[in-house]
Amino acid sequence: MEQTAIVTGASRGIGRAVAAALAQGGARVCINYLRQREKAEELAARLTAEGGRVMCWQADVADRAAVEAMADAVRRRFGPISLVVSNAGIAGQLQFQDVREAEWDRYFAVNVKGAYHVIQAALPDMLHAHAGSIVTVSSMWGLRGASCEAVYSATKAALIGLTRSLALELAPTGIRVNCVAPGVINTDMVQVLGQETLASLAEATPLGRLGTPEDVAAAVCFLAGEQAGFLTGQVLCADGGFIV
Ligand code: NAD
Repeated sequence: MEQTAIVTGASRGIGRAVAAALAQGGARVCINYLRQREKAEELAARLTAEGGRVMCWQADVADRAAVEAMADAVRRRFGPISLVVSNAGIAGQLQFQDVREAEWDRYFAVNVKGAYHVIQAALPDMLHAHAGSIVTVSSMWGLRGASCEAVYSATKAALIGLTRSLALELAPTGIRVNCVAPGVINTDMVQVLGQETLASLAEATPLGRLGTPEDVAAAVCFLAGEQAGFLTGQVLCADGGFIV
């Protein structure tokens, strides 16, 4: 079945690879972005040239009205939404003692409330169709502790709770809800760690390298698609074996 997807945070990194893989697989894709309009439009142009059906839409996932407007725009352009990939996220290293309330709130607003907004905005279409798929992007740090990333880790654990609970709630309606928990993936997000730390993280990864956005996109596409038709409430670690 052809899917109509929203991928949040899709101008770069993992979201970009997910949007590309879905479009190349025949899905109609909304590339959501926050600030990097040029990158989003450049991706859309490339995918369109390849025969893909894509659109770009600026929205802060923390902003309910903006997310609703995006969902409406997708419906107008492509019809009912059948897939949500809640990927947009922010990360950073902070000692817990130094975390200001505004930082705590912003992490939760983007990483958790963002998922709530985009899923709820798309859900009426899926409930009406008695079908659909939702994939959240958490982190291996949502399953294990990460020193100096307590807030990030808490948001990613929350996403896993959301995924599992929503999977149970929506299962009778035919909508599947799953989660990908990436390990260390070589994107802009992790560049702040520096080359030395990244090299040691690659070494600490049993498969001996950092992940690529495409590694994660493959896991997302698997869970999103019909081949995963009997999977719901699952957390798939795309982490090179890091937390096995
Ligand atoms: P990235 O920083 O390259 O991409 C994140 C994207 O989210 C960016 O395009 C950014 O603009 C967007 N975004 C941020 N706030 C937003 C908002 N309020 N509204 C809309 N978009 C917003 O990072 P990435 O590595 O591609 O991360 C993608 C997801 O994967 C994130 O949820 C991240 O937590 C998760 N993740 C990444 C890693 C990693 O090692 N890179 C590991 C585990 C989980």
